[in-house]
Amino acid sequence: MSGPNPLKLIPSVDKLLSSDEFLNIIAEYGHVRTTRTIRAVLHDLRAQIQIDESLPASSIVDIKTLVAASMALSDESSLKEVINLTGTVLHTNLGRASLPTAALEAVVEISRGNSNLEFDLAAGHRGDRDDHIEAILIELTGAEAVTIVNNNAAAVLICLNTFALGQEVCISRGELVEIGGSFRIPDVMEKSGCTLKEVGATNRTHLKDYQQALSDKTGLLMKVHTSNYEIRGFTREVSYEELASLGVEHNIPLLADLGSGTLVNLEDYGLEHEPTVQEVLGAGADVVTFSGDKLLGGPQAGIIAGKKTMIDAVKGNPLKRALRVDKMTIAALTEVLKLYRHPEALLQDLPTLRYLARQVKDIRELAEAVLPAFEAALKGIATTNIVETSSQIGSGALPLDQLASVAIEITPLAKRDSALVALSKAFRELPIPVIGRLQDGRLLFDIRTLESSDTLIRQLPGLDLS
Ligand SMILES: *Cc1c(COP(=O)(O)O)cnc(C)c1O
Repeated sequence: MSGPNPLKLIPSVDKLLSSDEFLNIIAEYGHVRTTRTIRAVLHDLRAQIQIDESLPASSIVDIKTLVAASMALSDESSLKEVINLTGTVLHTNLGRASLPTAALEAVVEISRGNSNLEFDLAAGHRGDRDDHIEAILIELTGAEAVTIVNNNAAAVLICLNTFALGQEVCISRGELVEIGGSFRIPDVMEKSGCTLKEVGATNRTHLKDYQQALSDKTGLLMKVHTSNYEIRGFTREVSYEELASLGVEHNIPLLADLGSGTLVNLEDYGLEHEPTVQEVLGAGADVVTFSGDKLLGGPQAGIIAGKKTMIDAVKGNPLKRALRVDKMTIAALTEVLKLYRHPEALLQDLPTLRYLARQVKDIRELAEAVLPAFEAALKGIATTNIVETSSQIGSGALPLDQLASVAIEITPLAKRDSALVALSKAFRELPIPVIGRLQDGRLLFDIRTLESSDTLIRQLPGLDLS
């Protein structure tokens, strides 16, 4: 061995901390955190030297840079804004609905300081957080009463637990859905303390199947809107009306899980019809549940609407305390609901609906406006074109409804899978990551959900295509 032992070149923690070089770093990050980070960096350096004794002294001189970079990196938020150009408007992995400005402003205002979240200002005593949102939900749904919880999965869980604990719940075999992640109706049924009573066959369920399934153990009839698939061909399902009258006959309530749920007739906006909350309640369902952040276009929430006695029972369930929503949700949801009072302006004010209803010619115009920026950024690397594609609603809503759309298509000149993978990674590594979809050897950016072309264009020269 020649030369000095490189381990000896590593300065001590104390020496570094007291050096002038570290004054700024300590001022920015604090003494405790800087000390801890120096220790970690020195530990890594020693480990490297153990492996490679010839490690040049120069690689250990810039400990200061290593320490500062390590702390700056760990300060970067892992949760960040992305530009969703996947073609799936309500993408669960990308945070579903984009909130309207009024909702964002309400969140900021209510969260900055204190609020009357559970305080009745008129009476001067404790209030109920649901009171802030129940009236407008009653107005819009026509239900006798409404309450909200953390998401629709929680809504289903607490309804089952409240209405049918220790009892059987009759549900069609064709509706035993899995909603992605780990939300499967049979599993939720078990966790809520109910026994699943499967009715009929996967493709066909008749009213007489429900009649036969009823017993003195039955606590609830349930219908789940099979929102992420459709059974086609030789099929038969029992309508909400039929089930509701069976329930009335036997004094058993009907719970309808609508999944997405909408408060407006989507046909008015050029989309396929999806049963509205008002229709299903009108058809006789005692309680319906639906999501706040799917077609409704609001924050994550589960809305439970129906008969007053049943909603009161949900509110009285101790699980409600565990599943209750935060003030930020109430603030945002209230603003989103207010937009539904003016359906003619919804298209303009509610981003989710605006994206869903966007006309192909408008999407094409936007695509043409951003194309030159893609061409310039990818010159010599890939060809760029405008192509027709189809988007989908996502989050299980109207699964078979494909929306005609327009995409920027990027085909790498090097016809290798690895080139395509590298390209899509480069877009994901932009300051505001841009997420597209890979299809048939091309990278597609569906322009339907592009909000700001400036934000997109400004970033493209920064693509790392090395
Ligand atoms: C999406 C969905 C759920 C779960 O709703 P979250 O708001 O994601 O918790 C439950 N049931 C149906 C039918 C759904 O489509």
